Amino acid sequence: MGYPPVFEEMRGWLESLVKQESPSGDAEGISRVMQFVADALSDVAVSRMQPTEAGPILEVSRGEGGALILGHADTVWPTGTLAEMPWRDEGDWVYGPGCLDMKGGLVLAMAAIRSLEPDVPFHFLVTPDEEVGSEQSRATIEARARKAPLVLVLESGMPGGAIKIGRAGVGDFHLSISGIESHAGLEPDKGASAIRELAHHALWLEGLEQKVLGTTLNVGVVSGGTRSNVVAGRAEAHIDVRVTTRSEMDRIQATLNAPPRFDARCRVSYHGGFNRPPMEPTAQSAEWIALASRVWEELTGSPLVGVRVGGASDGNFTAPITATLDGLGPVGQGAHARNEGVEWRWMAPRAQVIRELLAQAGR
Ligand SMILES: [Zn+2]
Repeated sequence: MGYPPVFEEMRGWLESLVKQESPSGDAEGISRVMQFVADALSDVAVSRMQPTEAGPILEVSRGEGGALILGHADTVWPTGTLAEMPWRDEGDWVYGPGCLDMKGGLVLAMAAIRSLEPDVPFHFLVTPDEEVGSEQSRATIEARARKAPLVLVLESGMPGGAIKIGRAGVGDFHLSISGIESHAGLEPDKGASAIRELAHHALWLEGLEQKVLGTTLNVGVVSGGTRSNVVAGRAEAHIDVRVTTRSEMDRIQATLNAPPRFDARCRVSYHGGFNRPPMEPTAQSAEWIALASRVWEELTGSPLVGVRVGGASDGNFTAPITATLDGLGPVGQGAHARNEGVEWRWMAPRAQVIRELLAQAGR
């Protein structure tokens, strides 16, 4: 099977991108990564960089309509990581900080775009803050998604190539309780312990879980009280919530908005919310997955399956708006880990699938 010759460029591009460190918050490193991408596409599309507090957002586009490709230039690796964890090319595998998440995804998009017919429209967004929650990019991502029939998210694929059709929504809540302080020995009954109330809440929160539906709650941090001989007047907790459906997200949010009090003398409130809604498969996305799977199977001999995963991505923002395929990026191991690597044999078939999806969406 012959791939477009430009696919050969991917290895060199990835080496250059990995060697340019770009942790979240390093606007300069991030800009250099984006400039490299823009330069590689300068003769086939128009690029512009829009500054934000987190670094620039790069938009590369051609024409009107077509699919939206989502990538991010930031990595979780602080500057200097490259010294201990250098770029390594071992033929079948390449290694280095950010090679899988997601500089390998950026080069897949570059190769797919460069191999397209020149009249196919598309929009490619590279953001600076995905690894820290996409606060500065979210509005742009959502605005572009509203105009696109399909969004391709270049986060890494699963082992063997499976893509991601469902992702958890992630909530971050803060519980604060105030009780009444008193002397623990002289007047214990005059006190209303915020810590005792918190203990009740920790167990109550566990009761809100629906593991079959994928809803989990974790009280990860607690603090409270002042001294052992004082009934605690204050206590706080930090809670991580994961849901896989919109209805579960709404249920948890509504429940925490009106929390119970186990001791009526305590004041209890939950602050926070869901920073990314869950990504759920839809009928529209199923059609695109079928197309992707046909192409993938021709190239690799196996169908492309879609799986649900716990982690969140920018696909969580676009899935409620339009058909979204996530995990279309490189296949490998160790995202956010020291052994981060890309298994090279999947790169060309991956780029080809992205190319076909872009071509179809651009019709
Ligand atoms: Zn990523």
